[in-house]
Amino acid sequence: VVQELLAKPIVDSQIEKLQAEVQKLKKKPSMKVVLVGENQASKVYINHKKKKCEQIGADFELIHLPEETSEVEFLSKVKELNQLPTVNGLFIQLPLPKHLSHIDTTNLVDPEKDVDGFHYKNVADIYSGNISSSTLLPCTPKGILSLLDFYKIDISGKHVVVIGRSLIVGKPMGLLCLNRNATVTYCHSRTQNIQEFTKKADIIISAVGKPKWLNSNYIEQSKKTILIDVGINRDENNKLCGDIDFDDVKDNVSMMTPVPGGVGPLTVLSLMENLLIATKKQKV
Ligand code: NAP
Repeated sequence: VVQELLAKPIVDSQIEKLQAEVQKLKKKPSMKVVLVGENQASKVYINHKKKKCEQIGADFELIHLPEETSEVEFLSKVKELNQLPTVNGLFIQLPLPKHLSHIDTTNLVDPEKDVDGFHYKNVADIYSGNISSSTLLPCTPKGILSLLDFYKIDISGKHVVVIGRSLIVGKPMGLLCLNRNATVTYCHSRTQNIQEFTKKADIIISAVGKPKWLNSNYIEQSKKTILIDVGINRDENNKLCGDIDFDDVKDNVSMMTPVPGGVGPLTVLSLMENLLIATKKQKV
């Protein structure tokens, strides 16, 4: 039977550690998020992050700008928060409204406060393989590394197939696996015959965003594949689901992350870990 790789035991133990670390600081760490407009999914995500911040004993503030905020107003707000010494961690909740969506937010947040791990100064460490415990890694790939560590999944020499090449998940994920000596294949929307790659994978990490698209046709049963499902989607009944058709593949794989309860909570945990890293970098 398939082993479910659950986030809960990891989150529970790490949250306790973070609480203890926060207590040792002279001042509570402070996290700010900039949200522009009324995106409902964004509000739900922000709420999860707020709760976790409160749980570890950090301050959390939502800077909620109205939908009609201009580019100049938005950029000057981010600049102001970058400069405020009382802000330790800062992130911009995406997506921005249509009239601001052309803005490249990658490098807007000060790299020392960049709890999302998007700034090129932080990405450069992944690219060079220069990773330490104080590197601000992007949250979802970082959470997946925590999962691999917790469940003692050694990927060295293994074939990891990453499906998706976004800057926030797929691309850094593949590089981080390469840094851990995996053999990495990237697949994406232009890849021909994806099944030829996934059937040869020891580990598949799917970050596509299509409900239940990865089914048993993509799996070679004898490989005992490990599946990591990053997707957060809605199925035909509006129920939360991942990229992977859990019921269809569960008898053909060795381990897999459920949705919900897998990668999602680990992403939020990584954000909290990054807040602590950022706060310590700022020597407060
Ligand atoms: P994204 O920017 O939309 O990227 C999706 C990637 O999937 C792209 O690289 C795209 O290829 C590829 N793709 C699309 N259709 C494909 C197909 N039919 N076959 C193979 N590849 C295909 O999305 P993202 O931000 O990386 O997020 C991906 C999913 O993860 C979404 O469901 C998102 O909600 C979820 N997510 C979850 C968490 C979490 O904490 N669990 C965090 C972040 C994101 P091209 O590059 O060729 O277009």
